[in-house]
Amino acid sequence: LVKGESNSICDVTSFLHTLFQSIPFFIAFIGLEFAVSWVQKRKLSGRINDGISSLSLGILSRLPDVLFRSVDLISYIYIWNNYRLFELPWDSPWTWYLTLLGVDFVYYCFHRISHEVNILWAAHQVHHSSEDYNLFTALRQSVLQKYTSWIFNLPMALFIPPSVFAVHLQFNLLYQFWIHTEVITNLGPLEWILNTPSHHRVHHGRNPYCIDKNYGGTLIIWDRIFGTFEAEDAKVVYGLTHPVNSFDPIMLQLRPLAHIWNTFWATPGFCNKLSVIFKGPGWGPGKPRLGLPEEIPVITGKEVPFNPSVPAYLNCYAVVHFAVILDLYTELLGTVTDITNCFYILFFTEVNKEEKIGSGILEIIRCLVFIGVYKHGYLRSQMEKYLMLLWVFFFFFSFCLG
Ligand SMILES: [Zn+2]
Ligand SMILES: [Zn+2]
Repeated sequence: LVKGESNSICDVTSFLHTLFQSIPFFIAFIGLEFAVSWVQKRKLSGRINDGISSLSLGILSRLPDVLFRSVDLISYIYIWNNYRLFELPWDSPWTWYLTLLGVDFVYYCFHRISHEVNILWAAHQVHHSSEDYNLFTALRQSVLQKYTSWIFNLPMALFIPPSVFAVHLQFNLLYQFWIHTEVITNLGPLEWILNTPSHHRVHHGRNPYCIDKNYGGTLIIWDRIFGTFEAEDAKVVYGLTHPVNSFDPIMLQLRPLAHIWNTFWATPGFCNKLSVIFKGPGWGPGKPRLGLPEEIPVITGKEVPFNPSVPAYLNCYAVVHFAVILDLYTELLGTVTDITNCFYILFFTEVNKEEKIGSGILEIIRCLVFIGVYKHGYLRSQMEKYLMLLWVFFFFFSFCLG
């Protein structure tokens, strides 16, 4: 991919492969978080409905990389190949320190703009849509966000080699996984420099004091420098100021775009219409760019997360089906070839909404599609063969439930 550079880390397949290798660590840390939370507070750190919703969003967000090469890296490599001004030595430690700071500063800028520009917020809000705060939330990512973030990295392509950039881009993402937890309270002096669980809890809060604060990725210094830092204070209530009340991964992605579309046409005047797209999500005619702080709903402490009651057997049904999808997905990342699996996962994650599971005709169609695809030998892993028996059992079970 990179002219004059043999380093294979720039190959997108290896980018996906690194993700593939990190999945067992994600699962192990999620298990550890459950255990620590139980020991500390006799409370589980996550819920089945919210957890499956977050993981489905995480899977969906990476599916386009399987079909198309990663837009972040392709655009970066194109600029490096054609327009670079000079080459920082890839093996110098100073290039590494500079890239660490560069990637993190760009992340701060992009992240802040993603909260302050409505059309970018429509993509980023997916990550904030959970009312829980745990390691599942870290994996709750937007499909659309990478199509808005790539452009911010391009200035670095004028002088930082793609191999160094790609490694730091992944480090920056991986670092942000572990800070999504309530089991780590305070890290003492590290809180001055690093983005920590405490700082990032504030970022995910919908309390008025938390709004538009702590945008940092790995370092918190950018927030301290640019005046967006806020320390954790009153108990944080997580999620969007106007909760979506859904676990549907497609709806969570598309609803804000529909809202912008409707507001765009309902707002009079050309300049106002542009402002609907490019000013803050809280903006309206006559209001400041980021909206009015007094319009942010007050937090009473009695907020209850969306949690429709579902019978235990339907929870089991959802978990088993999700296990199949996770297996298909890891196989897909390991081979990066099978488009059939890709479409199947897309179909599954859309139908796997717990509030509807077991009741819809779609669920029966999905099971029939699975059986058809399986019979034609597209699903090859060992795990499916065992799960197939369970699947057929559940299929008739859900059919009987109507
Ligand atoms: Zn954010
Ligand atoms: Zn986060």
